[in-house]
Amino acid sequence: AVFATAALLAAAATRGAFDRTAAVLLTVVVSSVLVRQSWTLADNRALGSSLRRTVEDLEHQATHDSLTGLSNRGGLHAQGDRAGGDSASTGDTGAVCFVDIDHLKVINDTLGHRAGDELIRETAVRLAELFGDAVTRFGGDEFVVTVVLSDASGDALAGQIVSRLSEPLEIDGHRVHPSCSVGIVVVDTVVASEELLRRADVALYQAKALGRNCAALYRPELDTGLMADLDLGPELRRAIDRDEFTLVYQPIVDLQTRRTAKVEALLRWQHPDRGLLAPDLFLE
Ligand code: GH3
Ligand code: MG
Repeated sequence: AVFATAALLAAAATRGAFDRTAAVLLTVVVSSVLVRQSWTLADNRALGSSLRRTVEDLEHQATHDSLTGLSNRGGLHAQGDRAGGDSASTGDTGAVCFVDIDHLKVINDTLGHRAGDELIRETAVRLAELFGDAVTRFGGDEFVVTVVLSDASGDALAGQIVSRLSEPLEIDGHRVHPSCSVGIVVVDTVVASEELLRRADVALYQAKALGRNCAALYRPELDTGLMADLDLGPELRRAIDRDEFTLVYQPIVDLQTRRTAKVEALLRWQHPDRGLLAPDLFLE
C-alpha cells in the first residue's frame, strides 16, 4: 500500500494535482498503517502475556508435584541450602527431616492404588499444616521437611511429625492407622544440601531398622563407611564379653481378637561410642 501510494503521489505531482489527492491518500494510508500497527501491538501484548503464563505454568510443573501440590525434588535444593546456609549465618540450628510412610505397599495391595494416593495426599496436608512450604514431596512416599530450629529441638520436631502422621484417618470408608518413619539431621554449620539429604536418609534407614513409627537422629557412626572401619570380629567378641547386646520386643497383635499374639525379639547393640545399633549395621 505504501509503494502504491508513493506511485500515485508521484503521478499526481507530475500532473500538478498533488495537493488534494495527495492529502486524501496520505491521510487514508497513514491512518490505516496506524490502525494496523495498534492491532499488531495489541496482538503482541496478548501473545507476550500468554507466553509468560505458559512459562510460569511450566516452571510450576517442573518444581511442584501434581498429586499433592507440594514442591518437588526440583524445588528442594534451595530449601536445603536455606537450612544449612541460614543456620550458619544466624547462629541458629537447622534441621532436615526425611519422612517415609510405613508400609504404603500394604495399603496399595489391600485398598488399592487410589487409597495409597489418598494417604500420600493426606500426609502432605498434615505436614503442610505443621510446616507450610518447608515441605517437599521428594518422590514416592517420601517427604522432606527443612526448617530452622529456633526453639524446638530436633527430637521434638521429629516426635511431632511421627505423632501427627500416626493419627488414624478414613479412606474410602476404611479406618486406616498409618505411621511413618523419620530420619533427622541437625546442623549448625554450612553443609551442602546434597550431604544433608544423604545424612537424613541414613538416619531414616536407621528409623526403619528400629521398627518404624519412630524417628532416628543422624550420627556419623550411622554411615556404613564408618561402620566398615570397625574391625567387627574382635568388636563383636568384646561386645559379648561386655554384655552390650540387648533385646527390644515388638508386639504382634491378632486383629481378630485384638490381643497380643506374639512378640518379636529384636537384637540391638548398645555400642559404647556409636550408640544404639540395629543388626543391619553389624550383621552381614
Ligand atoms: P516401608 O515401611 O519400608 O517404607 O515400606 P513401603 O511399603 O512404604 O515401601 P517403600 O517406602 O520402600 O516404597 C514406597 C512404595 O510406595 C513403592 C510404591 O509401591 C508406592 N508408591 C510410590 N509412589 C506412589 C504413589 O504416587 N501412589 C501410590 N498409591 N503408591 C506409591
Ligand atoms: Mg514407605
